[in-house]
Amino acid sequence: MKIVTVVGNRPQFIKAAALSGPLRERHVEVLVHTGQHHDDELSRVFFTELGLARPDRELGIAGGSNESQTERMVAALAPLLAEVAPDAALVYGDTNSTLAGALAAEAALVPVVHVEAGMRSFDTAMPEEVNRVAVDRRSALLLCPSETAAANLRAEGIVDGVRVVGDVMVDVAMRRQPAARADTAATAARGVAPGGYLLLTAHRAGNVDDANRLRRLVELIESLPLRVVLPLHPRTRARLTDAGLLERLEEIAGIVLTEPLGYAEFTALLCQARAVLTDSGGVQKEAYLAGVPCVTLRENTEWVETVEAGWNTLVGLDPSRALAALRAYEAARPGSHPDLYGDGHAAERCVEAIDELAHGLRSESGVSAA
Ligand code: UDP
Repeated sequence: MKIVTVVGNRPQFIKAAALSGPLRERHVEVLVHTGQHHDDELSRVFFTELGLARPDRELGIAGGSNESQTERMVAALAPLLAEVAPDAALVYGDTNSTLAGALAAEAALVPVVHVEAGMRSFDTAMPEEVNRVAVDRRSALLLCPSETAAANLRAEGIVDGVRVVGDVMVDVAMRRQPAARADTAATAARGVAPGGYLLLTAHRAGNVDDANRLRRLVELIESLPLRVVLPLHPRTRARLTDAGLLERLEEIAGIVLTEPLGYAEFTALLCQARAVLTDSGGVQKEAYLAGVPCVTLRENTEWVETVEAGWNTLVGLDPSRALAALRAYEAARPGSHPDLYGDGHAAERCVEAIDELAHGLRSESGVSAA
């Protein structure tokens, strides 16, 4: 099959790094970069570090409101799909690029393959949740990271084309975490000792776009009992600057503020942290996989299994709940650590499911599948 894959932001480059290679062994992939994340720190570094093929097309679309960005992407994807005439369009996760890829493909009557289908936070105030639901409704093949995701789809009446394959991000993490655990140069370079610091990331619109909530985030960081390493997402840095809070953050004793990090350095800092505090979906999962306790700076999560297993605690932006969660982890680590999101071979299962889709499409069109 000829497949147009649409990617645009950091976690999508990481997911594509897992799937693109195995996919290209059996199919022709045209990789389209929308431009949603375009700078070196959020984009280029992942292509070079994770060996992801260079994009075949770059749309260069960034900035503006979610709606206008998505509209501009759809407008640019329409002629591209007409020209390339793919058999399927593949999208990852829940961003504007994901939605734009699905909408453009639907309009062009191209079947949509959704990797990371069925995830739900049930919080419709999150743009990501709105995107996920819209994309799943338009997908012919829904590749789920967990049984929970498939159950979410069943509850919405979506059963056809649903496959539980595991999580492709976990494929990458499983391969990279052993070396990251031993990479003491990464911690030394940031002046922190293994096990002696907290790693924190925050960039969700719900936490950083509102100045009051951003202030609460800064207060929470001020209350933390250990040194904090905080790679600042450009969105967060911009909002902190606008709200006049960046200096206050910089003045916190022992804080290590960095630019967004490449995958290897970030993973080393994650694996060696005492605990992780984050509002990122990907980072919650990676902390779980690394056996590092996680405190999630949200009131809900799509990755509910990590909470049920005792390795992730939802605290919103409440410092006392965050401190209580950290104290509880110090008192006792959760007793078990089941495999929640697959065995590191999700990408292979995705390709098998895509092969089945190809077979089905050929049968439908009357072309012999042999
Ligand atoms: N990540 C990274 N460098 C950083 C912060 C995160 O490489 O400075 C990686 C992290 O390991 C994970 C992914 O980026 O694989 C998560 O992306 P992000 O938090 O932007 O998105 P989300 O998962 O919340 O959609």
